[in-house]
Amino acid sequence: MKTEDKIHLKGFRSWAEVDKDRLVHNVKSIHSRVNKDIFAVVKADAYGHGAAEVSKILQSLKPVRYLCVATAEEGRELREAGINSDVLVLGGILPEEVDIFSSYYLVPVVSDFDQLRLAINNRIKKVHLKFDTGMHRLGFYPGQLDEIIKIASGRIHIEGIMSHFPSADTDPEYTQKQITAFGEIVKQAEKYGIKPRYIHLQNSAGLEYRCDFCNSVRIGISIYGEKPSKSFSIPVKTVMSVKAKVITVKQLKKGERVSYGGTFRAPADMKIAVVAFGYADGLPRALSNRGYFLFKDRKIRIIGNVTMDMTIVDVTGLEDIKPDDTVTVIGRDREKEIYFEEVASLCNTIPYEIMCRISKRVKRVIV
Ligand SMILES: *Cc1c(COP(=O)(O)O)cnc(C)c1O
Repeated sequence: MKTEDKIHLKGFRSWAEVDKDRLVHNVKSIHSRVNKDIFAVVKADAYGHGAAEVSKILQSLKPVRYLCVATAEEGRELREAGINSDVLVLGGILPEEVDIFSSYYLVPVVSDFDQLRLAINNRIKKVHLKFDTGMHRLGFYPGQLDEIIKIASGRIHIEGIMSHFPSADTDPEYTQKQITAFGEIVKQAEKYGIKPRYIHLQNSAGLEYRCDFCNSVRIGISIYGEKPSKSFSIPVKTVMSVKAKVITVKQLKKGERVSYGGTFRAPADMKIAVVAFGYADGLPRALSNRGYFLFKDRKIRIIGNVTMDMTIVDVTGLEDIKPDDTVTVIGRDREKEIYFEEVASLCNTIPYEIMCRISKRVKRVIV
């Protein structure tokens, strides 16, 4: 880490190192495989990686044409951080947000008639139309195209047309049907003379499918280096490593209990360390007595219940661990790595959730 970063970390007991080279590598690796324009998804603070800094890197990469956020407010934050790339708001537009869209040049994904009229009546310059081909969350139904054209024609620029996969990681048959359905919509739109600049359907898991009529992809988790499915075949590397400091190291006598609820009892005399990272930092409490951290390439297992600000680990046999030392909570430690996927599966969830719940207290640094 550069000295400059070390200064910024003064007083922080935990931080997340965001590896710029790996982020760039992932985008290049994906682009060289799919050869389509990239809509980089930076919602939820770039999946916990720090939206402003990550967006600065992403917007400078040639294949990246758009940054995608979930809400107008997230878009505003990007603008205030000096991001000038096109920004698409995936979550649509609500009446009270209209001013934010126009002041900050945000582009809404429009997925029903209320939103379409709202955009038109408030002189929003361009929109992306979203169709529901099976997610049943947001999106026009395919049969509504006729009416959309009537309303939008000559009044607003349709720059993009899109749909979304709910099960590209698990259900190829369903996904294939969606591709076909979306293809029909695109064809029909063309008959009406609508040829949007961007046609996008695939998320990260969707990259494993062919979509010849699509010219762009909308991806998040894969650029952060996590595989969206077991069969994902594009080489990507984990971008974020979460680190925390040791507060204290001490001895525990056989039979003594550890942490709230006393769910761990020492089977023999042991040495333990208290690490400054708890569930308020984003460590799932479900890792109590289950997960592990890394210290200089060695696994140190979590004992007792994870607490709000601290977690206790077994360091029996480690001579060299002392207060102010750094341990790896998730990510890379020299030659070893704890993957988000590994943590997620221990907690019965998905890596997305583990990533985006790393909290504000954890300082992000680009390395
Ligand atoms: C979050 C999101 C994505 C990105 O999905 P990944 O699985 O992270 O690639 C794409 N499209 C929409 C509509 C989303 O909400």
